[in-house]
Amino acid sequence: MTFGDISIEQFRSQGEQVFNWISEYFQNLDDIPVTTPVSPQELRKRLKCALPEKAEPLEMIFRDFKERVVPYLTHWNHPRFFAYFPNTGSGPGILAETLAAALNVNLMKWSTAPSACALEEVVLDWVKQMVDYPFDSEGILTNGASLGSLFAMAAALHQVPGLDLRNKGLSGRSLPVFRVYQSEEAHSSLDRAALTLGIGLDNVVKVPVDTEYRLRPQHLEASIRKDRERGHLPFFVCATVGTTSTTSVDPLETIAAICRQEKLWLHVDASYAGFAKIVPELSPVVGDLSVADSLIVNPHKWLFNPMEISCLLWKPKGAFTQTFSLVPEYLRSPEDGGTDFMNLTPQLGRSFRALKLWYVIRSFGMEGLRERLREHVRLARWFADRVDEDPSFERLAPVPFSTVCFRVRSRDPNQFNTRLLQNLNRTGEIFLSDTKLRGNVALRFSVGNIRTEQKHVEDAWRLIKREASGIAHG
Ligand code: PLP
Repeated sequence: MTFGDISIEQFRSQGEQVFNWISEYFQNLDDIPVTTPVSPQELRKRLKCALPEKAEPLEMIFRDFKERVVPYLTHWNHPRFFAYFPNTGSGPGILAETLAAALNVNLMKWSTAPSACALEEVVLDWVKQMVDYPFDSEGILTNGASLGSLFAMAAALHQVPGLDLRNKGLSGRSLPVFRVYQSEEAHSSLDRAALTLGIGLDNVVKVPVDTEYRLRPQHLEASIRKDRERGHLPFFVCATVGTTSTTSVDPLETIAAICRQEKLWLHVDASYAGFAKIVPELSPVVGDLSVADSLIVNPHKWLFNPMEISCLLWKPKGAFTQTFSLVPEYLRSPEDGGTDFMNLTPQLGRSFRALKLWYVIRSFGMEGLRERLREHVRLARWFADRVDEDPSFERLAPVPFSTVCFRVRSRDPNQFNTRLLQNLNRTGEIFLSDTKLRGNVALRFSVGNIRTEQKHVEDAWRLIKREASGIAHG
């Protein structure tokens, strides 16, 4: 029996193999299927193995990874992945993740990871510059937009005057009904936040949208007014910049004026489209993000960072500290003037997320990031033009960024397009997702992976046409 970690020699030789494999994976990605259909039962059977009592050679584990895990993945890093919002584990991001794992520092307090905490502040300041958010705002990196929005909703709730939620909580007292507002097209993470905080799904008011899927401010105003008349307590509005289905953009300034007037917390979910702010011609489409009391933007969506990293920024000074700060005896340490991130979130142990963002922004530069986002928008518009000029297809929403909602015209369009999606994804050539727009099945073609080029979008269009024609004539 030996103790301790694997030897340095073993680590070095395995590390070389792993990095060689990753390089080949990227080199050959174009030739492998984006996804391989396999039933959950079959997959569970293939991966099932007994709890290992004896140590196994790393070579064997690596072989199993290559032979039993990789072939049954949906490859998000694939250039022909066009579903949901595609993301990217870019080279610099992967290098940074590897280094962060090697250091394994814990950013709960400044003193537990000084330069890592300082770097988190540095990248948050960069993000503020990138999306034009006030420099004196506060912020934190979270694992994703869903938790970021949950934390924002919690902070907003704690800011409601006269409640003393911190000490008294929500139960066992007579309180008004808390109300949250968002458009019908906002992401379900806001519903989850309301669910988690005990607000209840019935109290998430879904404000109707206009013909371009943007929240209608006059309906927001009317809902708030009606709720106040009923004695409810409105406290939180979420506007979205880049909704999940169509990437529509809510009218931020009008919504912000309503929130100011009504003294409501405005949260802006710009998790997908927020970084489009760095592209001058897209900046007006994004709008003025600085109106948000809290803002979420996701480097793990459209900024080439591997999962998981999201930036949560807010303006009300101390709001998150007042909500989450709690320092037990075993975490007290001398004041060193640094930020103790554990006091801004319910999370204690935190990984070194800032490193990948630092690496990605530095290695591509603002210029490189800008050009890449621009190219994705160009590719999506190329695809939208093909849809628009083909009489057998129709586009179902505007394309402000890099996502196209479309369908094939048919006598039974929902059935036809559902079948088309299944057929397309079964080919393994491309991967698309769908949504429903006013009850109509819409296929979503989203460009966001750093490896996607013109030829991949052209291949995708050819395949979509072929499969659609196959169904129509089959
Ligand atoms: N908000 C929007 C608009 C989204 O599209 C998504 C996911 O696609 C989310 C929030 C949730 O993001 P995350 O997966 O980072 O929690």
